[in-house]
Amino acid sequence: MKNADVLIIGGGVAGLTAAVDLASKGIQVVVVEKKTYPRHKVCGEYVSNEVKPYLEQLGMNFTTLSLPEINTLQLTTQQGKAISVKLPLGGFGVSRYTLDNQLYQLAMRNKVEFVFSTVTAVDFQGGEFEVSLASKSMIKAKVVLGAFGKRSNLDERFQLKSRHQKSPWLGVKCHYHYDGHPKNLVSLHNFQGGYAGLSQVEEGVLNLCYLVRYDSFKRVGDIHEFNRQVLSRNPYLKQFLENARPIFDQPLSIAQISFGKKLSIADHMLMCGDSAGMIHPLCGNGMAMAVHAAKMASEQVVYFLKDQIIDRNEMENAYQKQWDKHFKKRIWLGGQLQRIMLHTGWFNFGMQSIANSKPMLQTLIKRTHGNPILS
Ligand SMILES: Cc1cc2nc3c(=O)[nH]c(=O)nc-3n(C[C@H](O)[C@H](O)[C@H](O)COP(=O)(O)OP(=O)(O)OC[C@H]3O[C@@H](n4cnc5c(N)ncnc54)[C@H](O)[C@@H]3O)c2cc1C
Repeated sequence: MKNADVLIIGGGVAGLTAAVDLASKGIQVVVVEKKTYPRHKVCGEYVSNEVKPYLEQLGMNFTTLSLPEINTLQLTTQQGKAISVKLPLGGFGVSRYTLDNQLYQLAMRNKVEFVFSTVTAVDFQGGEFEVSLASKSMIKAKVVLGAFGKRSNLDERFQLKSRHQKSPWLGVKCHYHYDGHPKNLVSLHNFQGGYAGLSQVEEGVLNLCYLVRYDSFKRVGDIHEFNRQVLSRNPYLKQFLENARPIFDQPLSIAQISFGKKLSIADHMLMCGDSAGMIHPLCGNGMAMAVHAAKMASEQVVYFLKDQIIDRNEMENAYQKQWDKHFKKRIWLGGQLQRIMLHTGWFNFGMQSIANSKPMLQTLIKRTHGNPILS
């Protein structure tokens, strides 16, 4: 049986960041990930600058990627009303294909071991974990980080009761060639039952990613028809869809996205990223929160495993406290904003108010984002 100091379930942004951080401090890390790299994922692909200095400190080299810097947010209504504001901190655009793969390569350079399989069970007994894989093997670990994202076979086992209920959200993404979208702009467009984000990633490619209530989508049932019949009622999306050339053969989609309450500690696992709690995508900082949570978890694991200045209980309590301090309010506020964005009447009213007060929108953005994190 294989042994690991730290086993990380899931090699997305959270899992890979924690793996690099811990391995760079001399801790032996195994990541179990069910899919290989590189690959596309449903995501708006806008990364808030709050995590850029930390990722650079870990060894990410963004300069070679020539990524678009994004400093302006535009909101539009179905009636074609638009408003733009400067983003207080800004961010950059990068595809998940590139970002996850770059983090994976960095993890490999830091001697992180990868096992490509699905974790099927985790048992904590006698102060250590036994992790079972679909490949029928088992790994023993002193610490396990749960970084298995927004939807996983492990959800039922490690979620609160309310999370067992099916979630009504569907996410859709496709890359396009399109010249009419400024490089420095992330735009959010309201449509019946959802909202769509448009922003550039590397090589001038434009990403369209939207979140829609499943009952709204089901009435049409096909992504191309839904784009034509529903998204195109927003004149900004109509203009885009009529003139853009899709790059993917088929758009990617993910169903049953849950925004329910989750646990930051589950059966002694430290949960990071979406598996601990998911902020509504319109805030555009789920990835930044996943990276930040990975940093906080790594710090506590180092105190516990390497420095041995805290015990397991103290590690869990400290992580939970920090998680609540940094993310609880942001997730709540993100939920309120999503409710407004999806309620056409409120959204139109909100846009009128915001048009008269751009500082109000900037305050809302600030409150759903954190400050730059640096160690
Ligand atoms: C529609 C939409 C748009 C979004 N847009 C943005 C945006 O523009 N900006 C932003 O910052 N955030 C955005 N987000 C949020 C962002 O995608 C997530 O917050 C981020 O991906 C969380 O990273 P993670 O590492 O927790 O999960 P993930 O990146 O999902 O990684 C989880 C990994 O775990 C693996 N896994 C799952 N179960 C197992 C298992 N049992 N065994 C082994 N491996 C397993 C999966 O294969 C996956 O690779 C968006 C989300 C949605 C739904």
